Amino acid sequence: MIIYKSIGDIQKRIEELKNKNLSIGFVPTMGALHSGHLALVKNAKTKSDIVVCSIYVNPSQFNDKSDLEKYPRTLSQDIEGLTKEGVDILFLPDDETMYPDGNDVLQRFDIGRLEFFLEGERRPGHFQGVCNVVNRFLQIITPDYLFLGQKDFQQVKVIERLLEISNQNKIEIVVEPIIREVDGLAMSSRNVRLTQTDRQRAHLIYGTLKWMKENFGKIQLQQLKEQAIQQLKEIPNAETDYLEICTAKNLETAFDTNLSDTLIALVVVKISGVRLLDNIILN
Ligand code: AMP
Repeated sequence: MIIYKSIGDIQKRIEELKNKNLSIGFVPTMGALHSGHLALVKNAKTKSDIVVCSIYVNPSQFNDKSDLEKYPRTLSQDIEGLTKEGVDILFLPDDETMYPDGNDVLQRFDIGRLEFFLEGERRPGHFQGVCNVVNRFLQIITPDYLFLGQKDFQQVKVIERLLEISNQNKIEIVVEPIIREVDGLAMSSRNVRLTQTDRQRAHLIYGTLKWMKENFGKIQLQQLKEQAIQQLKEIPNAETDYLEICTAKNLETAFDTNLSDTLIALVVVKISGVRLLDNIILN
């Protein structure tokens, strides 16, 4: 695996590879890699000739400074994992490379209502930060495929929209299912922040989502949601940030079961302040 830190160097290499007609698969990450990230990489290996991965903790998508400071960083372990998976290129830019004018100077992307819904509502500015960093990466790496996790489902929808409005439709988004710990907790770089006791209880989030899937169609959608919220209330130290049932296509709130729509339940639960995201396709 070759590591590039400068835009000029990686672009030169990518141009050479493209001249040989090799397809490029890109996996953007913020590091602290786990098996969820590596599943994206594995799939990228099967679908593209060359796999480019990036590790960059993007400051502009953190509306909470202490969250940014506390974000886990495990670079040497990450490099080892990516090398083992056979990643060809790792892009490791620093803040100056990504934001030469400072990370408070952002381009504005019109992503519509997604910007202020769910994650967008709770984390003002988050998706503009995501769009800025992803757009910059795409312009540098010019991939054929972009590998994203269903774990961050709203982010996938935002990036779909970004590709549309920035005329980058040629890039194909490949969405990877959520990789979970043995007990069902969705893998996340933030899980290491849970205390041992909270970690043992955190699987109850997925337990509730599975219960929703099992009972989908048996009771009304509103009841399904209310009963699930009740279940989540029983997790000690937990606070439900949101639980919403939406159409998977456009992420619009679903009020009843229209069988032609795929519906998804999206949840964020904070356990002792650690924000845990999860979701499940209901039908
Ligand atoms: P992050 O490093 O958190 O920005 O995540 C990088 C990519 O990995 C994103 O596309 C995430 O959606 C994806 N990802 C994170 N956790 C998981 C998981 N448990 N399963 C599958 N993909 C994941």
